[in-house]
Parts: sequence; C-alpha cells; structure tokens
Amino acid sequence: MMQNLSIVLVEDEPGDAGLIRYRLKFTGGEHDVRWVTRLDELDTHLRAATVSPDVILLDLNLPDSSGLDTISRCKAMAREIPIVVLTGHDDMKFSLKALEAGAQDYLIKDGVEADTLLRAIRYAIERHQLEKRLHESEELMIAAIEGGGLGIWEWNLKTDACYTSERLRKNVGFEADDDTVPQTLSEWMARTHPDDTSAINEALTRHVNSEEKRYEIEYRLKHKQGHWVWVFESGHLVSRDAKVNPERMVGILQNISSRKEMEEQLRTLAMHDPLTGLFNRRSFMEAMDSEYGRVKRRDNYPTSILMLDIDHFKRVNDTYGHAAGDDILKTFAHTIDENLRENDVFGRLGGEEFAILLPDTDQAGSAHVAEKVRAAVEGMRVQAEGETICITTSVGIAMLSASDKRPDGALARADAALYRAKQSGRNRVEHADSTTEPPIASA
Ligand code: GH3
Ligand code: MG
Ligand code: MG
Repeated sequence: MMQNLSIVLVEDEPGDAGLIRYRLKFTGGEHDVRWVTRLDELDTHLRAATVSPDVILLDLNLPDSSGLDTISRCKAMAREIPIVVLTGHDDMKFSLKALEAGAQDYLIKDGVEADTLLRAIRYAIERHQLEKRLHESEELMIAAIEGGGLGIWEWNLKTDACYTSERLRKNVGFEADDDTVPQTLSEWMARTHPDDTSAINEALTRHVNSEEKRYEIEYRLKHKQGHWVWVFESGHLVSRDAKVNPERMVGILQNISSRKEMEEQLRTLAMHDPLTGLFNRRSFMEAMDSEYGRVKRRDNYPTSILMLDIDHFKRVNDTYGHAAGDDILKTFAHTIDENLRENDVFGRLGGEEFAILLPDTDQAGSAHVAEKVRAAVEGMRVQAEGETICITTSVGIAMLSASDKRPDGALARADAALYRAKQSGRNRVEHADSTTEPPIASA
C-alpha cells in the first residue's frame, strides 16, 4: 500500500494537467499534487518547499523550456528528486534519450490509466533510490581504492588487451597522458622482473584452471625511470565465453615497495649483530648449515672454519672501560673483514668470540687466511682515553667434514684448537689435529 505522495506536476496544457490530476485521484491515496506550468515556477516552488517532493511529473515542452534540455534543467534544480517524463507520443527512441538525460521513467500522456501512472511513479522513486545508493557505494569504493593506492586493471584474455587505471600507471611512473603506456598484457609482462615472470604465469594458470580461487602475487615491475617497484597484484576471472574459455579478468595492483623495504630492514636487523654489523650467531649457523650440505653433496669440496677469541679482553675492558672495549670490537671486526673474500662468512658468535666460514678453502688456504687475520689484528691500533691500545687474537682452525653427524661438528673442533692456541701462549693459530678430534671443554 503506497502512502500519500507529494507530487509536483509540471505541465503547461491545462487539459493534460487536469487529466493527470484526475487520474491521480483514483490511485487510492490522498496525494498532495502541486501544479506548475513553467520551469521557473518549478524552481520557485522547490526553493520555497519545506519538504522535498517525492516525484516530479515533467512535460518537456513548456513556455520557458523544450525537449531534453528540460530534463537536465529540472535535474539541476532538483538533483534529489526522481523525474517521470510526460510525453505526448509513443516514441521509443526519444523515451530512451529521456532516461539517459537523467529521468527515471517516462509516460505517454494519452490513455494513461491510474494504475500505470501510479506504477510509474513508484518505479521512478525506487529506481532513483537505487541509483543514489549505487552512486554512494561507487563513491565509497573509489575512496577506498584511491586511499589504499590501488590501481585497477582489466585484461581480455582473447585479445590480450589490458586496460589500466590512472592510479595503476602512476604506481609505475606513467603520467596520465603518457602514450607509451603498455596496452596489452604481453607489453606489461615485458616490464616485469625476469626472475618473477614464471611465478606470474604459474599463478595465472592455476587461477584460470580453477586450481586457485584468486590470482594473487607479489612481483617487481619496472618503473618508467628504470628502477624496480614491488607490487602486489590480485584479481579473478569474471567471464568465460560460450566454449568456457577464459575471457576477461579484473583485479587490483598496489605498490608495496615501502613494505618490502621495511621487511628487508627487519630481516637485516634480525640477521646481524648491531654492534659490529657482522652476522649474528643464528645467521652464521644457518650459513654453516647450508655449507655443510654442500660439503656432504660434493666430492673434494673443502671448507674451513676459523674460531677467534680476543686475548685478555677482560683486561682491556677493565683498564679502558666498556665503551673503549666496544670500539675495539668494532675495529677488530672491520679490520678482519677487510682481509676476507666476498664469499667468506664472518660472524660474531657472542661477546668477543668470532667465527669465519671459508667456503671452497682447504687446510693450507685457511692457514694462510688465519695468519693474515692474526697479523692484521696484531697491527691494529685503537685510540681510547688518550692512549693507543693494541690487542691480539688467538685462532683455531678446523675443516668441515662430510662424516660429521651435525653441521656444528667442525665448530667444536675449531673451538678445541682455539683452546690449545690460548694454552700455548695466545696470539697464535692452531689447527684441529684431524677431522675427528673430539671437542675439548673450553676453560
Ligand atoms: P682470553 O685471552 O682467555 O680469551 O681472556 P679474556 O679476558 O678475553 O677472556 P674472557 O672470556 O674471560 O673475557 C671475555 C671478556 O669480553 C669479558 C667481557 O667483559 C668482554 N666482553 C664480552 N662481550 C663484550 C662486549 O660486547 N663489549 C665489551 N666491551 N666487552 C665484552
Ligand atoms: Mg672468551
Ligand atoms: Mg678472550
């Protein structure tokens, strides 16, 4: 049951107006009908009205306006009010144009039954409300998309054509009017990092084959200026053709470079010792593990490990203070690092204990490195408290062995050799006796 409506009838022909008003009487409600004959009269009425009307019934040919122009002018006055256009003849083309111009419905004036009239009004109101809600949700979506920096893409799998939103293009450095923007997926693929293309193709295939509900991936796209931008991309298939072949995919793309950067920083922090910047115990052990795997897999692949412990470091701390001790640890790490190769892994295992993994290095090679390192530390000078401080280090050497049950077997042997170096007077290098020397408990 429809409640009473507030209707504005804009009609300059008194006969037509009378007919419409007469019919509205038979729609089963006590509607409030306001009759005006011109657009400027409508304007005056709308401005004065305290409550906005439910609907405007609009004749298009008025003394002060005619044709489709009347609709847009009426809309400009009353954006929030649905409009039903009254036309004098049954012209389908014209009626559609009326809808496009912003009217919610149209009615042929001749022979309109009360029922039809009411239905049209009711439909116009409903349609207008739906349009409004749709518009609001679109606005919300756009706000969310823009706020989240989301670019939108649409890909036609048959033609390969790829539509991209302005935001997406901006994410990778293309200006709005740039005509070098890729237009097909193949062109976009040419801009992806070579290490990522196969993962993208696999993810696309899995989704298209319905193995994965969504297509989702993180990869690198080349920025217009040449650097790589990390992006997150997500999408899904929205249509297939009559033969069930995939046809159209839509999705979003987000620049995640800053997130990736933070992840990388966190990873670096978690892997390194804050004082010296060297690998910490955990990441050094991880490096040992993978090197141990290599030693086990390959024949005649020697890898050595050096354990180092600063001599009488407690004395240094006690004499010059902890801060000076820290300075020495930093200089010590830097001095040794300068004497190592790119592939060598240098870690701080704890306090003033360090270890160096020397991949692809045999006993003679490691003895050479150990002596070089020992001598470099001996020659090192650190200024503290107005004095020049010298330190020395003892070094134990062992080889990683495929016969070890655990990757840290060599570490225990190197530690035992280091202990012997300390026992025999410090500032010296000692080798583990054999690959099977049992670890000796450190003092
Ligand atoms: P040795 O020649 O037998 O190795 O004698 P040492 O004094 O070096 O041996 P010890 O292991 O008894 O002492 C290690 C000292 O290293 C104790 C501790 O105060 C110091 N140390 C450990 N970590 C740090 C650190 O991060 N900063 C400073 N300044 N000192 C540290
Ligand atoms: Mg120690
Ligand atoms: Mg020491």
